[in-house]
Amino acid sequence: MSSGQPSVYLSVVIPVYNEELNLPKLFEQLYPVLDKLGRSYEILFTNDGSVDRSIQLLREQHQRRPEVTRVIDFNANYGQHMAIMAAFERVRGEVIITLDADLQNPPDQIPLLIEKMDAGFDYVGSYRLKRHDSLFRKYASKTVNFVRSRITSIEMSDQGCMLRAYSRAIIEAIVNSGAINTFIPALAYSFSGNPTEVGVRHEERHAGVSNYSLYKLIRLNFDLITGFSLMPLQLFTMFAMASSAGSFVLVLVLAGRRLIIGPEEGGIFTLFGILFFLLSVTMVGIGLIGEYVGRTYLVVRTRQRYHVRELIEAVSK
Ligand code: UDP
Ligand code: MG
Repeated sequence: MSSGQPSVYLSVVIPVYNEELNLPKLFEQLYPVLDKLGRSYEILFTNDGSVDRSIQLLREQHQRRPEVTRVIDFNANYGQHMAIMAAFERVRGEVIITLDADLQNPPDQIPLLIEKMDAGFDYVGSYRLKRHDSLFRKYASKTVNFVRSRITSIEMSDQGCMLRAYSRAIIEAIVNSGAINTFIPALAYSFSGNPTEVGVRHEERHAGVSNYSLYKLIRLNFDLITGFSLMPLQLFTMFAMASSAGSFVLVLVLAGRRLIIGPEEGGIFTLFGILFFLLSVTMVGIGLIGEYVGRTYLVVRTRQRYHVRELIEAVSK
């Protein structure tokens, strides 16, 4: 993180992956909104390994507005949240706002977030007033919201909405935590002291299709749950222990039956009883190992997960 005191009021962080069709319109809408705020600002774009003309467009924009435009150029595609993390490590603002490049969260909603930050909140989340996404996305996201609210202590009405504002202290905490976590809004929430939410407009993607395949969505949500809770492993161990206990009782019953009534056909059920018992002991074992691997993973995975090819910015202020 660019250490020391913030040198501008606002840093806007935007991940960009194959957005050549959206960038011109984004520039056109975003800069006037920020110019009108009457406060100093900078915009950090992270080019997340785009294979279209995005990087050229970003370069041109940097030449047009060199004093407020900074571009981080990744050598490959590391994902939206890594792109945001890389920008967080370099922001100079007192307040940091994240925004998508596809204009689904219109830039003119930014002043709403600033208003809340001025009112003294340190985390301003947002939820989409009327969501424009496929039915499947809406329901999938409702389900995950529900599961998340049950097993983690994170309160968020719409985890998928990236238009959010954070105080510098929260961003510093995220960067210093070393936890290169893949789900930034949730991590930020866990560091905030005074969070709030606002409703924002949501629009259809301006151009192109969502970069999230079903696989990426499942991975992201899986990260969200396993990254903030060991509950899945604990449930597994719990289940294994319950079935252990059940099988143990079965073994006792079968042994008693054998002594009192005599052996059943070829002793096959006794064998099953013993087998079930041993099997569930193995499952407890796997559950326990999983638990420790999970804990170790939490500690180990702090490695840097992206590589910056080039930093395009005006020579430092
Ligand atoms: N994005 C990125 N890297 C990726 C995928 C997406 O930087 O691997 C950016 C993308 O350019 C956009 C934002 O993340 O600015 C959100 O992506 P998208 O609109 O595809 O996601 P959705 O709105 O469908 O959740
Ligand atoms: Mg989008």
